[in-house]
Amino acid sequence: MSTIAAISTPNAAGGIGMIRLSGEQAIEIADLCFQGVSGRKLASQPGYTAAYGSYTDDSGVIDDGVAIIYRAPKSYTGENVAELCCHGGLFVTQKLLRRVLALGAVPAEPGEFTRRAFLNGKMDLSQAEGVMKVISAQGEAALQAAENTLAGSVSKKIGQVCDALIGAAAGLAAWADYPDEDVPAVESGALEETLRQNIAALETLIKNYDAGKCVTEGVPTALCGKPNVGKSTLMNALSGYEKSIVTAIPGTTRDVVEETVRVGDIVLRLADTAGLREAGDEVERIGVRIAKEKLAAAGLVIAVFDGSRPLTEEDHALIGLCAGKRAVAVINKCDLPRAEDLSPVKAAFACTVELSAKTDDVISALRPALEQLLGTAGLDFTQEILANERQRRCCETALESLRDALAALTSGVTVDAVNVDIDCAVEALLTLTGKRAAEEVVNEVFRSFCVGK
Ligand code: GDP
Repeated sequence: MSTIAAISTPNAAGGIGMIRLSGEQAIEIADLCFQGVSGRKLASQPGYTAAYGSYTDDSGVIDDGVAIIYRAPKSYTGENVAELCCHGGLFVTQKLLRRVLALGAVPAEPGEFTRRAFLNGKMDLSQAEGVMKVISAQGEAALQAAENTLAGSVSKKIGQVCDALIGAAAGLAAWADYPDEDVPAVESGALEETLRQNIAALETLIKNYDAGKCVTEGVPTALCGKPNVGKSTLMNALSGYEKSIVTAIPGTTRDVVEETVRVGDIVLRLADTAGLREAGDEVERIGVRIAKEKLAAAGLVIAVFDGSRPLTEEDHALIGLCAGKRAVAVINKCDLPRAEDLSPVKAAFACTVELSAKTDDVISALRPALEQLLGTAGLDFTQEILANERQRRCCETALESLRDALAALTSGVTVDAVNVDIDCAVEALLTLTGKRAAEEVVNEVFRSFCVGK
């Protein structure tokens, strides 16, 4: 395999720049452009050692710095690796990269170092995706989840599910193929139990991923309600400063104002909306259309009602639109006398919060309800958390197959059919970890990586 090279530090000026080489010739190529002050060749040094010296090309010294070497298989990629550190200038790093390319290295593709680590068995696909999550993590919880994935927690969990399923399938196959032999009959009760346990394990992984996303990436949230119920006031209270225009004239919040707010650990990607009424004027109508689209695209709806006034047709329309959505009802203006009957709201929503956007600490008021609704209460980021949608899809596919297997088993369909479903589930899980992933899947995973990683 060729020896690859790339600038592994950001494409910007900084304290240190690093050119990474990986492949059989990595250390030899480094030796051709590096002269250590000790006079010793890098090729004569053991792995995990560093040397100070200067980098040169035909016309002289390029820079000075420290070269670190790693010897296969004890390196990130599992190959020989040289990391040439120099000063972190854009030009100097590029000049040094050009030098190692001239000496026989080839430019690394995006993610190629990690891809080689995967191909050399240093990590599986889910861990490789963990690497990307670590790089892109923007908060404590996201980082912790990513570090866990990188450390192999997802791989381990998926491996356990796979082992249990493969064991069950093997028992089934032996029993079905050799009915006359002395193969122990498969206890359908035990098999059912195995299926149920692993269904539960996959459901938990998916549930935690969905909840975790509300923390690590934020949940697209639609803030809805007819004009004047207090959406802007609530939004401002959540975001801590005046972003929306609050007025007492109905219909003045015309644009969709996007805002990210944090409620406890949960990140809400909020779109303040222009009210849900069928508006007459053109600008307002655009706002209403966007509001409806936002509601359709939202992962969470916060539906606001004015507790000081009786419900109107518009309120009922909103209640209807929220059916089947993950939605919390906020009964606002609780500092004012209560209107007679708000029971239709309480009956329609799984979760209702009564507050005053004007006088209450709205974050404290909303937090328990949101944590419950989004499943983040008690979410433990030291547990295994799937890294991305690809992993989630694999789990979903496996889960569907296992549900089919369970249905087949309990309805007395032939053992073969149950086995086919279990095989499908195992296949999906092996795709997740990359143990049996098609080339396109692997390509897709590394496509999103940066060069030099
Ligand atoms: P929007 O049209 O839904 O965005 O409503 P606004 O946030 O603009 O609020 C409309 C009016 O209701 C304003 O005069 C607010 O000051 C008032 N308002 C909002 N929330 C409360 C509340 O909790 N209590 C009281 N008393 N007034 C509120």
